[in-house]
Order: sequence, then structure tokens, then C-alpha cells
Amino acid sequence: MSQLLTRLDPARVLGLEEGDAHVIRNAGGRVTDALRSIIISQQLLGTREIIIVHHTDCGMLTFTDEVIRGKIRADLHQNVDHIAFLPFGDLKQSVLDDVKSLKESPLVLDVPITGYLYEVETGKIVKV
Ligand SMILES: [Zn+2]
Repeated sequence: MSQLLTRLDPARVLGLEEGDAHVIRNAGGRVTDALRSIIISQQLLGTREIIIVHHTDCGMLTFTDEVIRGKIRADLHQNVDHIAFLPFGDLKQSVLDDVKSLKESPLVLDVPITGYLYEVETGKIVKV
């Protein structure tokens, strides 16, 4: 699935040096999928700010849970109806939803949490 190739180099886009940040990556940059790592980062590594970055032209805009579940059922003969693959239809809303989700989580410390969109077409990063 070439659409799902990574489109974002966080270190380059955010100007990070080695050790500046704990970068947690996953398909679509979804926080639900990252929660385990975020908790570890805050509790054990002392991380005190969270930046969520999604990007334009994301593969997560191109399918639905029903589509990927059907593909897995057909290709692997497995039922994964219990797995939320977290695709989205609205890029900006996906960032807003993820910021809200972390801010409301009792497992995430009350720290600055901001969301951004990386525009692959321009190389610019825009606050949502
Ligand atoms: Zn993507």
C-alpha cells in the first residue's frame, strides 16, 4: 500500500535534534494508537508537552474500517471487526479530535497539547 508510506520526517519538519523529543509514530498519527507510548513517555521519561502532527495526502483518508476489515477477511481469513483502524475523512477534524481525546484522557498529564498539519505539498507545518 504505497499510500501508507511515511510522508513525514518529524526531526526535519520540527527542527529537532537527537534527544529533543520522544517521537511516537503510527498510521495517521492517531493518539488512540499512541496512548500507551504517551503514558510511558510522560511517566518514565518526563515528557511535558505533546505535539500531534497529521499530514495532507494521508493514506488514512483513503479507506474505511469496513474496507480494511473486508480485505483482511478476504486475504487472511481473520475477523478483525473488533479492531478500530482509525481512518478519517476530514484531516483537520482528525487533528482536533486527537487533541481533544488527549486533553480529556485521565491517563495523560495536564500539559500543553497542540495539533498541527504538515502540508506535504509545501513542506509547511500549520497549527490547527
Ligand atoms: Zn499518513
